[in-house]
Amino acid sequence: MAADPREPSLESRTFDTVLVLDFGAQYAQVIARRVRECHVYSEIVPGETPAAELLARRPVGIILSGGPKSVYAGHAPRPDPAIFDAGVPILGICYGQQLIAQALGGEVANTGIAEFGRTALDVTEPGALLAGQPVSQTVWMSHNDAVVRPPEGARVLAATRHSPAAAFEDPVRGVYGVQYHPEVSHTPRGLDVFEAFLTATGARRTWTSHSVIEAAVADIRAQVGDGAVLCGLSGGVDSAVAAALVAEAVGEQLTCVFVDHGLLRHDEATQVEEAFGASSSTRLVTVDAAARFLDRLAGVTDPEEKRKRIGTEFIRVFEEAARAHAGDAAFLVQGTLYPDVIESGHGSAATIKSHHNVGGLPEDMEFELVEPLRWLFKDEVRRVGEELGLPREIVWRQPFPGPGLAVRVIGEVSAERLALLRAADRILLDELRRAGLDRATAGPDAGDTDFVWQSFAVLPTIRSVGVQGDERTYGHPVILRAVTSEDAMTADFARIDYDVLERIAGRIINEVPGINRVAYDVTSKPPGTIEWE
Ligand code: GLN
Repeated sequence: MAADPREPSLESRTFDTVLVLDFGAQYAQVIARRVRECHVYSEIVPGETPAAELLARRPVGIILSGGPKSVYAGHAPRPDPAIFDAGVPILGICYGQQLIAQALGGEVANTGIAEFGRTALDVTEPGALLAGQPVSQTVWMSHNDAVVRPPEGARVLAATRHSPAAAFEDPVRGVYGVQYHPEVSHTPRGLDVFEAFLTATGARRTWTSHSVIEAAVADIRAQVGDGAVLCGLSGGVDSAVAAALVAEAVGEQLTCVFVDHGLLRHDEATQVEEAFGASSSTRLVTVDAAARFLDRLAGVTDPEEKRKRIGTEFIRVFEEAARAHAGDAAFLVQGTLYPDVIESGHGSAATIKSHHNVGGLPEDMEFELVEPLRWLFKDEVRRVGEELGLPREIVWRQPFPGPGLAVRVIGEVSAERLALLRAADRILLDELRRAGLDRATAGPDAGDTDFVWQSFAVLPTIRSVGVQGDERTYGHPVILRAVTSEDAMTADFARIDYDVLERIAGRIINEVPGINRVAYDVTSKPPGTIEWE
């Protein structure tokens, strides 16, 4: 589901906007991200949105996404044909390109030969869309149908073996099409296609972290006036950046509540306190609830039960703190991201009145939500965080589960077992950082590929026999897990160098009394999950 386009988002009133019409593409979000990488704001809307609604948004360009249907199938989704006469430049990608051809006098056919994956493309005439691009290049394709005749008046720019019109354009009419997928990283020159299209639209390149912050600050001020605002901090990047934006806008009206459940990793609570504590105008209330959580976890070994208890206790502690420290707050900050908005299909409402249980708050506390990240992708959130001066340790933090270390201590959670795990975990992260494998401590311009997505230690309930200093030991094994991933949906175990693993294992056994064995988890997801519980 794409966002409801009827109400302009806060951003689209400030930034030139390219609307991505979603026809069920696998990659609609990636298209919008690529446009934004070119510093033009982009939003995803349902493909069949009436032209009047689309044009009311005053888009500088429209992109028709790919889609699973065949354009000549009975129920194939189509754009409102009026968009072709609106004078707004249009780029079609795959199914989108086929829609353009079909609507404007070209022809789409099932040639009987599909093209999937890496495909050789020959640029016969670069035109404006492929200007400056190599004559032979690799592109990524995924289609059954192909444009066999381009729209009337359009020039064919490129072909593949089975797509005679793999790219076309009609700059006078303002239509552009590619049969391949320029949005995926497997199309090396894909971003240039977006650059060229955006140049053709004349879009202003103003979508930068700096201007995003300016717009968000103005919006927050307009929304909350002089009202008091409450924000729960988890230590994760989303809540931290949301809080930092609100602090930038109305710092003196903001109270942040950080519940330390005692299940955090080494130094994490300190990092939150340093980022939001004494140095800022924001009030930070830290609730040390470690003892309460341990109490609730005593004797509990079932993973689901652990998660449930931690969730419930968390809400209780947050409620109490909210009542005690921000009883008069009318606004609650939430770190909702754009992908959540797209997936829930509620793009329009800038604020949602919450009558019950938002963020687990009690029914008699009514808040209006402040969601400053509502139009941002995760990578944009990180850049905004950096621009706001948040520490890299927070901005580039690995994903961390809500129940924290409790789901990495298998079996019963106790202070002693948490301490063992925390010590081993600290060494693991330390050594991965020394090996340059953790994004948070790598240079600001480091690429995205070589980092571990998540790394941690797991403490199982079994014991193992060892020998240290000629003496038999009967201690705890610890299991190390490190994965690479792009989105956590799938993950691969990280191919960490044996020498690095050896150093980690050596240090853990030497420095953490009680641990006498180290194992490395080589399961991918699927079939494994990233976390153990
Ligand atoms: N369904 C269309 C085809 O198979 C378009 C595919 C796509 O957009 N990826 O050709």
